[in-house]
Formats: sequence, C-alpha cells, structure tokens
Amino acid sequence: MNLKEEIQSIVKGEVVDDEATLVRYSRDASIFEVQPRLVVFPKDREDLKNLVVFSQKNGVSLTCRGGGSDMTGGPLTESIVVDMQRHFNKILAQPAQGWYAVVQPGVWYRDFEREAAKRNLLLPCFPASKELCTLGGMVANNAGGEKTLAYGKTDRYVQELKVVLADGNEYTVKPLSREELTGKLSLSSFEGEVYRRVFAMVQENEELLKSAKPKVSKNSAGYALWNIWDKEKGIFDMTKLFVGSQGTLGVITEIRFRLVSQTTHSSLLIVFLKDQSLLAEATQAILKEKPESFELYDDHTLKLAARFFLDFVKTLKGNIFSLGLE
Ligand SMILES: Cc1cc2nc3c(=O)[nH]c(=O)nc-3n(C[C@H](O)[C@H](O)[C@H](O)COP(=O)(O)OP(=O)(O)OC[C@H]3O[C@@H](n4cnc5c(N)ncnc54)[C@H](O)[C@@H]3O)c2cc1C
Repeated sequence: MNLKEEIQSIVKGEVVDDEATLVRYSRDASIFEVQPRLVVFPKDREDLKNLVVFSQKNGVSLTCRGGGSDMTGGPLTESIVVDMQRHFNKILAQPAQGWYAVVQPGVWYRDFEREAAKRNLLLPCFPASKELCTLGGMVANNAGGEKTLAYGKTDRYVQELKVVLADGNEYTVKPLSREELTGKLSLSSFEGEVYRRVFAMVQENEELLKSAKPKVSKNSAGYALWNIWDKEKGIFDMTKLFVGSQGTLGVITEIRFRLVSQTTHSSLLIVFLKDQSLLAEATQAILKEKPESFELYDDHTLKLAARFFLDFVKTLKGNIFSLGLE
C-alpha cells in the first residue's frame, strides 16, 4: 500500500493527492510555497486520533490548516496537511447568556460573528483577516486585531480546549487550581508526564521566564511559557501554552470561548499630522485616552483610498455622501 492507501484505510474522511489540491494547499498568505504529499480531511475525533498514532509510528508529520490565511507559512508542510475546516465546523454551544460558546476549530470567524451578534455578543480578538480565517487558526496563532488595544488577544478569551496530543488521545486543557494540578502531577499516564515536565520547566526557570517576557502589547511569537503558572493565584493554565503554539503541540478539536457584550455606540477621531516627528508624542497623548483601536495611515495609503473610493462605495453599497463623511 502507498501512503494514501494506508491513511485512507484508517480514516473515514477524504484523503487527497491530486495535483490541483496539492498546489492549492502549498500556499497560505505568506511568500512561501511548500507542496504537501497528501491532504487529509478528518471526519471526526477518531480519524484524528488514528492519524496521530499513524504519524508517530511512521515518521510523517501532520500540519493542521484552518482558513490558510497565515502570513508565516504556518499551515504549510512537505508532509501531510490536516484540513480542519471541512468537517470540524460546528458551533456546539451557541453564544449564550452565560457569555461563552463552544465551537469546533474549523468554524469561520465570519459565521461565528453573525451568530454571536444575534445575542449582542462578540469575540473581540478578531484579526483584520476575519473574513478569511477560522477560530482554530485564531487560537493557534493567538490572533489579535483592531480591538486588541482594548480587549487583548485570543489567549484572553480561551477558557478551555480539547486537544489530541502525541499519544493519540484527546485531553481537556483548562485552568487548574493547586489541588487539581496536584492530581494531574500524580497521574502515571502520558498526561501526567506532560504536566510534570511543563510544571518543572516553569518552576525551575521562573526568574528567566519573568525577564524574557516581551514588554509589548501584542506578542504572538513563540510559546507563552511565562503565562502558564500564576503562583500568586495558584492557577496553572496550559491553555496559555497551546494558544499561539501554531499546531506544534497538538491538534485542537474543540474551543470554549469567553465572549463580551457588543458596544452599541462608538465615535471616531481623526488627527492629521504634518510632521512625522510628532508621532511618538501624539501616540502617547492619545493612548492615555484609552481608545478601543488606533490606526495609522500614511499619505500613500490615503491617496490609494481616495483613488479607489468609488470602488469602496460600490462594494459597501453605501450612500456616497455618508460614506465620505465616515
Ligand atoms: C490580509 C490579512 C490580514 C491579517 N491580519 C491579521 C491580524 O490583524 N492579526 C493577526 O493576528 N493575524 C492576521 N493575519 C494572519 C492570519 O489571518 C490570522 O492569524 C488567522 O487567525 C489565521 O487563521 P486561519 O484559520 O487562516 O489559520 P491557518 O492559516 O489555516 O493556520 C494558522 C496556524 O494555525 C494552525 N492551526 C490551524 N488549525 C489548527 C488546529 N485545529 N489545531 C492546531 N493548529 C491549528 C496551523 O497549523 C497554522 O500554524 C492576517 C492575514 C491576512 C492575509
């Protein structure tokens, strides 16, 4: 049996290696191009578990893909792409009064946003690519966007994850109290080993991690090891490790998100600067007012916007005067 036949014999979902599909999955939104050997569309958790066990035994790697809008080559591989969008795309617990939702990772953000809006709720960490990305991709990338200044990034909204780990089993990852952590550390299983090693790593390197934490408002690079163990509160939260790990630690199969209520009113302030040297001072002054978002346009962008203004009007189907004023 070749690789395709072997994998097809252990999964119910589609296994594809035709040229057109491989070419399509060899690109994301980055400059890179890497052609996979196969693209698999797992139907359910059993498929994923079987895939992980197979990959461990046969030395092939698995790379998950949601919307494929990553700008760093994250969903690209020479090995096997696991498409999470086709079948893992259900909202399992609708955005609710309790201000949370449970979703599969392949749900498009744009679809989720519509459902949440019906209940005046919002997942505010959406990226600028919100029309193109899935919720799983947002979690794996720790996405943030125009509202991040006020609301933070995706890590702030993940309450619980289900993940298939390297032993082929699915685990629930959520914030643990000291007692719950002690319970996990005493397990003699693969899960216990994971907790023991991560706990030892963050304990032994406490000072190093504190000093290494980037002092920026948005960081999506590397593993957020410094956020796992809150010693003062006694909370050990491994969701912080999985969020932003770009699929390198496990396959995310389910996400429970905290949501916020939508704001009903907002206003826009435009400041024109004649001289770029004023930018730093102006930024500091404006940030004190705690804006929800803060964008910068240079002359070239503004000229482009003006040049394509009529196209925008057509796309937005708006009234030219009110849009101009906006
Ligand atoms: C025009 C444009 C604007 C953008 N603006 C922003 C922005 O404002 N902020 C920002 O943060 N990003 C931005 N991005 C980058 C990207 O769109 C986002 O990070 C988005 O959230 C990625 O989601 P996706 O579904 O497309 O993920 P993909 O590109 O499919 O995958 C992203 C990563 O997640 C992993 N992954 C996907 N699903 C799973 C899963 N189920 N389990 C484990 N790992 C998984 C993949 O392996 C990959 O490493 C932008 C991209 C474009 C093209």
